[in-house]
Amino acid sequence: VEAIEAMARDEGALGLPHPAIPLPVDLYGAARRNSTGLDLANEAQLRELAHELAEAAQRPPLQPRQRVPDASATEIAAALQRAADHASAWAAVPASERAQRLEATADRLQRDMPALMALLIHEAGKTAANAVGEVREAVDFLRYYAAQVREQFHNATHRPLGPVVCISPWNFPLAIFMGQVAAALAAGNVVLAKPAEQTPLVAQAAVQALWDAGVPREAMQLLPGDGATVGAPLVADPRVMGVLFTGSTEVARLLQRALVGRVDALGRPVPLIAETGGQNAMIVDASALAEQVVADAIASAFDSAGQRCSALRVLCVQDDVADRVTGMLLGAMAELRVGDPARLATDLGPVIDAEAHAGIQRHIDAMRARGHRVHQAWHGAGEALPPGHFVPPTLIEIAHLGELGREVFGPVLHLLRYRRDELDALLAQINATGYGLTLGLHTRIDETVARVLAAARVGNVYVNRNMVGAVVGVQPFGGEGLSGTGPKAGGPLYLYRLLSQRPADGAQ
Ligand code: GLU
Repeated sequence: VEAIEAMARDEGALGLPHPAIPLPVDLYGAARRNSTGLDLANEAQLRELAHELAEAAQRPPLQPRQRVPDASATEIAAALQRAADHASAWAAVPASERAQRLEATADRLQRDMPALMALLIHEAGKTAANAVGEVREAVDFLRYYAAQVREQFHNATHRPLGPVVCISPWNFPLAIFMGQVAAALAAGNVVLAKPAEQTPLVAQAAVQALWDAGVPREAMQLLPGDGATVGAPLVADPRVMGVLFTGSTEVARLLQRALVGRVDALGRPVPLIAETGGQNAMIVDASALAEQVVADAIASAFDSAGQRCSALRVLCVQDDVADRVTGMLLGAMAELRVGDPARLATDLGPVIDAEAHAGIQRHIDAMRARGHRVHQAWHGAGEALPPGHFVPPTLIEIAHLGELGREVFGPVLHLLRYRRDELDALLAQINATGYGLTLGLHTRIDETVARVLAAARVGNVYVNRNMVGAVVGVQPFGGEGLSGTGPKAGGPLYLYRLLSQRPADGAQ
């Protein structure tokens, strides 16, 4: 607890030695004019947000980023035993009652929106708009899985797996964390959650909300730490009956290898739901509306500072319109404000930490050294960026998708020109990356839509719109190939992987 409290006073994602969250001038007035998606009708909530941010600005000078200590081997062993001991008690709670507690958690998150936003801004470097979106998505996951379990599952017809491990990423430290655990708990499983090591405070807040809403502490345990010391022993334990993971393809492979070697306590293979990265493309032909392409490319590549697995990584533009689109795109990039995420005018906050910053910078330098044209543009580009882990919006020209290399998780967009008669070859290149998460398409030719939909091996295709921010229950989210195992999060099939069907009456 002391370590967590100390971390609450640390520097957060900004990497600044001084308070990172100054009160935006006239936050309430600004919010009215702003398109953050804040609930403008809810005056009380906006005032509370202003208050939270003001409080944050009053905090004592921040310390260098500290780490919450990893859960110890003894704590991990005790948590596993507690989970195993409590599994049947939580499974016996009627499905409707489990659903009710998740809905109560959702109510609580909605009430706590301002405090959660301040925490997301502080610990994860989210902009205010992204923080609102994230709380809403967490609420959606809770309500969606609660409704599904209430309508479709009864303790008499389905049984949960038992203890499951949830390993979640820092880029959606509340929404994806809550999505995984809400699904697992709704289905009646007890959860051992290992949040990303960068964002344990948000995870702690989420778990507190679940506990306060009546989810027993034994059914929802939090084990902070890194993958090697906490994730690995959890996944290897025979009492664990399932693993939910969102993160890199490399780690998903390690998890799968660990699980292949063993069966659960009942002798069954242990299911893994993995949602991993992408090398996501947007295809733009000459019939597309350039203004809309630019707005959607900006949102897809640079929202959340590009730190979404769904984010646009390579914009593929038909050569006849490429110069025009590129010129407009660079103009739009030059309007983006990079800086303090607590200011409502900010478009791009920092990337998550120094390591991420260095990795993205290495990619940009390497591409430049290989002779690729690199464009960087942002509002006030002549001035230095504020201190902190900031990467300005970057556009890098490439000639072939093979030049992309690894997924770069930041505000770096690549630009590829293709000829009209190369569309099929381009689709083949996209499929050849092996990834298959999101694909954007801008065209006003129906035949092209049909052709791309038929060829693309990806989880989510977005036509004539941006390609981030899948809505729970409306746009189930998940990929193919290197991008994940499915079933899609926020979709009707997700819970089935977390349950087994009881034999019908009379059958064995
Ligand atoms: N679901 C998010 C979206 O549609 C992305 C999730 C992720 O980055 O892992 O943008």
